[in-house]
Amino acid sequence: MNAPKKNNLTRHIIIGMVLGLVVGGSLNLVAPEGFIREFLVDGFFFVIGAIFIASLKLLVVPLVFVSLVCGTAALNDIRKLGRVGVKTVGLYLATTAVAITLALVAAIVIGPGIGFELRTEAVFEPKPAPPLTEVLISLFPTNPVQAMAEGNMLQIIVFAILFGLAMVLAGEPGQRLHSLFKDANDVIMKLVFILMQFAPYGVFCLIAKTFAIEGFGAILPLAKYFFLVLFVLLLHATGTYMLILKLLGRLNPIRFFKNMRTVHVFAFSTASSNATIPVTMSAVENRMGVSNSIASFTVPLGATINMDGTAIMQGVATVFIAQAYGIDMAATDYLMVVLTATLASVGTAGVPGVGLIMLAMVLNQVGLPVEGIGLIIGVDRLLDMVRTAVNVTGDATVTCVVAKSEGQIDEETFNADA
Ligand code: ASP
Repeated sequence: MNAPKKNNLTRHIIIGMVLGLVVGGSLNLVAPEGFIREFLVDGFFFVIGAIFIASLKLLVVPLVFVSLVCGTAALNDIRKLGRVGVKTVGLYLATTAVAITLALVAAIVIGPGIGFELRTEAVFEPKPAPPLTEVLISLFPTNPVQAMAEGNMLQIIVFAILFGLAMVLAGEPGQRLHSLFKDANDVIMKLVFILMQFAPYGVFCLIAKTFAIEGFGAILPLAKYFFLVLFVLLLHATGTYMLILKLLGRLNPIRFFKNMRTVHVFAFSTASSNATIPVTMSAVENRMGVSNSIASFTVPLGATINMDGTAIMQGVATVFIAQAYGIDMAATDYLMVVLTATLASVGTAGVPGVGLIMLAMVLNQVGLPVEGIGLIIGVDRLLDMVRTAVNVTGDATVTCVVAKSEGQIDEETFNADA
């Protein structure tokens, strides 16, 4: 009974996205300013879209905390946590390194910045990057309430795991609390379900607003860069992830992508892996049969430390900027880009536009002009949407593969008709 309903919702969300594209794109052409822009785009679409994102975000902290406490408390073997942790982080870092290598190779071969006319229109003010020592220390919260108030995902993850472990070790009181947390988890998942019903309208407004403002005009002067990033993003999503799913996970990649449809639309329209966490979690658990103890750990962790799509943009952008400024990069510089981009993604959260901050770190590291970001900023919002969809695909791929290796995936659910 439930399946056709689910299907309908997915279809409606996709229709919302397509309509948003058409309406937004057309408004950009016919009414770039004036009454319609002010009242419809900056008024109605903006308000509904902002409320929709807020309602997703409000779920993130309680969902991650409650669900990860449940997941940790349900582990009967504490060593398993370490094993899952090592596999997950290892795969996240490895896929990011592959992503950026693909991007660098493609950009070196195609040369998107060769002959590019230097004309910086937008200015980019980089923020200083935090040093690695600080990143490591700041994994541990001094005040968990503050970590939650600030939505600091890594700190929330650390606190939830410690809390869950203490619940296992506390015996009977821990068990009582566990059943309370399980109930809370069910209630939060219900809330995710309820909010998803409004998604077609939220997605429509978000996409219509973005395309009404951005339009497609900015793409033209940067077409080579834009389409090259897009190409590598698609290559990584369909090539690398499919191979990993097939070879490492022995799972059907086509089924995987079908199960991911809703998640893709959410990531695309919100441009935020973080805001998409509730949807990703619900998809891997309910549609793909991954157990809560794996998904509650891997998904929020992935949203924070795994950004393959972002790494791809950085790879192409670095080469593009070097070529545009006529600067030669040495082999060691490329290696440095792979390293910095992989590590930079660990310390920065998955929110819209953070990719540019990471790019500033990479450019600094290899001594390229950070102002070069101004060259590509015009199309960054559009690429942000696509790379966020790739980022969450990476999170879900690793989640499924790790779950499979731990015997924590129900393949009947995974292969059921979505
Ligand atoms: N918006 C991306 C994400 O949330 C990050 C970025 O590339 O800017 O995953």
